[in-house]
Amino acid sequence: MVSLDLRSLIVMSGILSLLLAVMVFFLRLSYPRSIRGLGLWAAANAWIFLSTALFAGRGILPDVVTIVAANLVLLLGMVSYHAGVEQFFGRRPAWSRWAGLLVLLALPFYWYAFVEPNYNARVILVSLTWAGIFLAMAWRIWSEGAKTFSTRFTGVVLLLHVMVLLLRFASAWMPLAEEGLFTPSRVQALYVGSNAVMLLALGMGLILMAGDRLRAEFEYLASHDALTHVLTRRVFFEICEQELARCRRHGRSMALLILDIDHFKAINDVHGHQTGDRVLVDFVQRVAALLRRPDQLARFGGEEFVLLLPETSPEEAITVAERILVQVAAPREGLPAITVSIGLATNRPDEEKIDTLLARADKALYKAKDEGRNRIAQA
Ligand code: GH3
Ligand code: MG
Ligand code: MG
Repeated sequence: MVSLDLRSLIVMSGILSLLLAVMVFFLRLSYPRSIRGLGLWAAANAWIFLSTALFAGRGILPDVVTIVAANLVLLLGMVSYHAGVEQFFGRRPAWSRWAGLLVLLALPFYWYAFVEPNYNARVILVSLTWAGIFLAMAWRIWSEGAKTFSTRFTGVVLLLHVMVLLLRFASAWMPLAEEGLFTPSRVQALYVGSNAVMLLALGMGLILMAGDRLRAEFEYLASHDALTHVLTRRVFFEICEQELARCRRHGRSMALLILDIDHFKAINDVHGHQTGDRVLVDFVQRVAALLRRPDQLARFGGEEFVLLLPETSPEEAITVAERILVQVAAPREGLPAITVSIGLATNRPDEEKIDTLLARADKALYKAKDEGRNRIAQA
């Protein structure tokens, strides 16, 4: 039987990790800073590469480097992977806990390398720690990640890897034959080979996850106003068209409100543009606090907003609008007082286009302004 050259296999897997490190590092440079974790994932692959270089030096470099340091560097790579996942989900990695664990592990590695040399004991230490770290990563991704292909793929890769590590643990616990790092046993070949494949798949999964996050951020930016974070008009009118079609099909009623802050130009002139911006943000928060889940608020431009109230009768819409008037006019600490005028329109049974509904709401708004502002008008 042709025996596998394990040293070459280890070197090959190291080269794969190095390539991944370079790739993820450049992603880290080109992606927005809001996508966290990439730097640590690049570092993780760099640490893994370094560990394979150290492992491959067994018999050439001093044992303390190729055994104790190599194993600790490998686990440092796993810790970096885990820390990157924590950052990706907006958490702070528990650095001190991990540093403590690695320091703690240095002792048994040294012990089983020099005092009571035992390869299997070292394998048990590495595979259990590694499996624990990957389980924690899988759990985080499973419980907090969006349910997309990339998170499922990464979760499955992690769990498969944990299974291989547990298999390795079992075979070291019940050794069939005396083995060492380069012993060409089947278990060892499976272990080293699958580590290389799994780490490559893990890197791919995490890159896909970062890509998904990037797309989600772009989609959000394209569909939400940068200042107030409500919808932009394009998305809003898409939603309105769908709602109007539903209303026609099911004979339901919906309301469209245009809200325009009164004399907003004077707020800017007297208090400055920045205060004006804060007033807009505060205005949106006050209105949003009054809305139900299906209601949609959008910025129409400047200090003008549109509000869709699905499945709402004209009477209910007026009640909502009255609440908005009161809430907006309530005093606010550190901000100038404002009022709002509201133009309100509800759909006609045969209403086909959102434009006609919008035109009626706009007309009503003019009426509210004409009649003295800080009021509701209906069309
Ligand atoms: P009216 O009661 O008739 O609605 O008067 P108004 O002053 O509110 O209306 P007008 O349309 O004359 O002025 C709107 C002002 O809103 C003018 C513009 O400078 C300001 N504005 C538009 N967008 C922003 C923004 O993003 N931030 C700030 N601070 N001001 C804005
Ligand atoms: Mg205005
Ligand atoms: Mg206006």
